[in-house]
Amino acid sequence: MTLKARDKPILSMLEWIKVRLMSRLYVKKIGIEKYGGRLCLSIQGKLEKLKLESKSFCAMPSGRFVYEVASERERHVVDLVGRTCSCRAWDLTGIPCKHGVAAIFVNHEMPEDDTHPCYYKDAYVKTYKTPIPPMLVQSEWVSSGQPKSVAPIIYKPPGRPSMKRKRDADEPRNPYKVSRANKLVRCGRCQKEGHNARRCKANVTGETPWERRKRLQKEQSGSGRPSTYRQAPSSSQPPPTHQPYTMGSSSSQPPPTHQPYTMGSSSSNQAARSQPPARQPPATQPPTQTPWS
Ligand SMILES: [Zn+2]
Ligand SMILES: [Zn+2]
Repeated sequence: MTLKARDKPILSMLEWIKVRLMSRLYVKKIGIEKYGGRLCLSIQGKLEKLKLESKSFCAMPSGRFVYEVASERERHVVDLVGRTCSCRAWDLTGIPCKHGVAAIFVNHEMPEDDTHPCYYKDAYVKTYKTPIPPMLVQSEWVSSGQPKSVAPIIYKPPGRPSMKRKRDADEPRNPYKVSRANKLVRCGRCQKEGHNARRCKANVTGETPWERRKRLQKEQSGSGRPSTYRQAPSSSQPPPTHQPYTMGSSSSQPPPTHQPYTMGSSSSNQAARSQPPARQPPATQPPTQTPWS
């Protein structure tokens, strides 16, 4: 019943449940008033069925109230004083089982008398006796001075919700599967332990933030001279380092156009990113020989 109100705010949900409970209690109370039986309706129906089933049993007295109840296929011991049967159905439910009913009839009693009192109509009436009182609208409520109830703050955990079943601690597992837990990860980019390539903070040149900071400090202290960090000894070599970029369009363009990029004092990072000139094709190579032109 409460499933329908589960998505509502707390006060609306409680209100919804209260109204349904209030009317339900009244309907039950009115319904039982018209009923004339001693036992409740469904229990009486069960008992009538058991009375029919008990016809195939023969109860033989052993003591004053102890019977041996047998049919062609089964045999049980019924104690009418303790209200027990060896089939244990009577002990569990409080309603006489078919063996018990057979013994009760032999003892000239009624099975309704040996049913637990919680199944009587009186108990039912007592349950629904107290009604839930109706309530005024929220604006008419008397303030109790207590802080108002608010919905709890729900923190959404990061990442996707796990789809894997949570296994028991003693559930058998594959002993040949190597676990990655408690194993140091190694970065595939800078080859350092403690992180992977995705979280790698190293620059393209391979320097770590610590190295980069140290280098920048060195540059600033060194009168703003452009750094040659990790650059090939290309002080004598002119800027053909950037020639491959221009080769495709026009090789006749003089290299000094790119000079401000590499020699600029501000773009030391750019200079560090440039690949070593040793790998570049010689600047004198004619464009006709290049396969990509
Ligand atoms: Zn029984
Ligand atoms: Zn790394």
